[in-house]
Amino acid sequence: MTLRNTITTHLHDLALLAFPNNCLVCHQSLVAGERDICFTCIDALPETGYHTLADNPVAQHFWGRIPLVHAAAYLYVQEGNITQDMIHLLKYKRKKQIGVKLGRLYGHKLREEGSLIRDIDLIVPVPLHVNRQRQRGYNQCDYFAQGLSEVMNIPYEPNVMKRLKENVSQTKRTRYDRWENVEGIFALAQPEKVKGKHILLVDDVITTGATIESCAAALMTGENVRLSVATIATAGR
Ligand SMILES: [Zn+2]
Repeated sequence: MTLRNTITTHLHDLALLAFPNNCLVCHQSLVAGERDICFTCIDALPETGYHTLADNPVAQHFWGRIPLVHAAAYLYVQEGNITQDMIHLLKYKRKKQIGVKLGRLYGHKLREEGSLIRDIDLIVPVPLHVNRQRQRGYNQCDYFAQGLSEVMNIPYEPNVMKRLKENVSQTKRTRYDRWENVEGIFALAQPEKVKGKHILLVDDVITTGATIESCAAALMTGENVRLSVATIATAGR
């Protein structure tokens, strides 16, 4: 690479930092009215529509395990699809704005008529363990929560829950396990903030559901707490 090319490349990088006028996902130039993610990418998002379906697969996942008001995931994720790309950028490439944007987009959906995720008082992200958060520098779920919060006009509170252990044990969990937080993965750090409230617990991807289930169980030790769950993505399509 010539010096001139090197300088040009560096100037381009600096320009991207100063004027982030390209789509964070496909890198095409953004046009008027577009911000962070272009309309083409937004149109390509594989939405589940689960927020309007009472018996959707994410909600069904928790039946008999934990009493939720409703549960939904915004998008389908699968190997190589746009959702997987976005979650990778959000989690590992510091593209926090993708989390905020997805939260805003989903927030608009949740405000529509027919949404079963409604009457929420407080949004709570599933926390990372303190070591993981220090390593990554941020919790990706906080940004999704922030975007939802802005559009839904509902506060979000990142410090309500505390993660005591890094991983949730997958062993010997059955549908018949009680929902008490026997594993002690999560603890309710600020019980006064959830008392009597309908909480929306948010996470990035629901896979086995064990993490959300553990966190939900700990949250429900709060007094008179009702709980709904929303994730960015779930496997499928
Ligand atoms: Zn794009």
